[in-house]
Formats: sequence, structure tokens, C-alpha cells
Amino acid sequence: MNTLQDNLSRVQQRIHRVAAEYGRNPDDIRLLAVSKTRPAKDILALAEAGQFAFGENYLQEALDKIEATGERDLEWHFIGPVQSNKTRHIAGHFAWLHSLDRLKIARRLSQQRHAWQAPLNVCVQVNISEEPAKAGVLPAQASDLCHAVQDLPGLKLRGLMAIPQASEDFDTQRRNFRALRQLQESIQMSGLALDTLSMGMSGDLEAAIAEGATLVRIGTDIFGPRQG
Ligand SMILES: *Cc1c(COP(=O)(O)O)cnc(C)c1O
Repeated sequence: MNTLQDNLSRVQQRIHRVAAEYGRNPDDIRLLAVSKTRPAKDILALAEAGQFAFGENYLQEALDKIEATGERDLEWHFIGPVQSNKTRHIAGHFAWLHSLDRLKIARRLSQQRHAWQAPLNVCVQVNISEEPAKAGVLPAQASDLCHAVQDLPGLKLRGLMAIPQASEDFDTQRRNFRALRQLQESIQMSGLALDTLSMGMSGDLEAAIAEGATLVRIGTDIFGPRQG
């Protein structure tokens, strides 16, 4: 096995181990391989090893890789900031968007999604640690945005996403993820079916799974350290 495939299987094993530790079904936790800045050949090597879902942050780079890997039917997730002049390509080429935090963007995406496509799966990004100048809606605004997205025909509301304030401390990591899960529960009680909690990266995967992540977004631990 090459290094990439080795790394992938190590991350998969970690997910299984942590799921068992916290009484979770590993099948309820999807692995998104975050391939920003990585070449298409690395994506193809992972696809060969069975990885299906890839996350990208930068639109032009993503479109190039979608084209370069086009013979493989991979699932593409957009996880970076969305500018309103980029919505058409996101609506046209991605299966998921994890970083929705504005209604105006949601409306454009819904209009631009083609009728022949399945609705774009969407997570609302929440600034769960309420950091200044960080992407995401504040927790108090998440429910309103979710309810508005729910009514848009081109989008399918799936859940919430967050990138909490970085911390090395496991209990602090858990506290942030727990806040996102509790927010999800309160929005569910207001009548919306949310099945996705997109949380957990290389440094806090364990805490995220302990608190109910259904999708973890892993870059570094699969591909190695990013350059620059
Ligand atoms: C880069 C990125 C990741 C992956 O982070 P790693 O620490 O490399 O695992 C996950 N989510 C988002 C939104 C990212 O931008």
C-alpha cells in the first residue's frame, strides 16, 4: 500500500475505534477527505482505495480537479467561503455545501441548481465559539436560516457544520461540539429534520465523534501536512 492509502486506512481505523469507545455505529460517521491544495492524482489514488467523498475550499482549484478526475464518479463537497459571484458553479458541480451562512447565497444556489439535478445538500455553518470575524451564523441565528433554507426547492437542508475555536484540550473540544449538537437538537424540536452534524478535523476527530459527528472532514491526517 502507498502512504496515502495507508493514511486513509489509519483514519478509518481511528473512526471505528472511537465509535466503539463511545457506543456509536461507525456506519453513521462519514469520512470526507479534504483535498484542498492536493493534486488530482492523490485524489485518484484514494478513490482507488474506496474513498468517495472529497471536500474542497477554493472554487477554481476544485473545478479543475473535478474535471481531471471526471471518469471517477466522486462526490464533491464545497466547504470554503462562498462568494455570491461563484454560486452558479457551486450549484452546478457539487453534491454538498457545508459552509452556508447567508440567505442571499442560499436563494441564488437554489435558483441556479438545475432541474435535472438532485437538490444541493446543505449544512448551515455556525460560528459556534462566537469568534469575531469568523465565518458562520451566530448560534442564535441558525434556526431562522435553517427554516428559510428548508423552503428553497433547489436545496436540501441536511444539518449544521462548525469549525470551533482551536484547542488542544479534549474537554474544551467536546464542549464546543456539544454546543453544536444541542443547537441541532433544538432546531429539530422546532420541526426540521436535520440528519447531519459536520464537525471534526484531524486535530479533534475524537471529540467530535464523542459528541455525535455524522461527518468528519479530514485533510492533514490523510494527505500529510499542507504546504503553505
Ligand atoms: C482544511 C479544512 C479541513 C481539514 O482540516 P485538517 O486539519 O487538515 O484535517 C476541514 N474543514 C474545513 C472547513 C477546512 O477548511
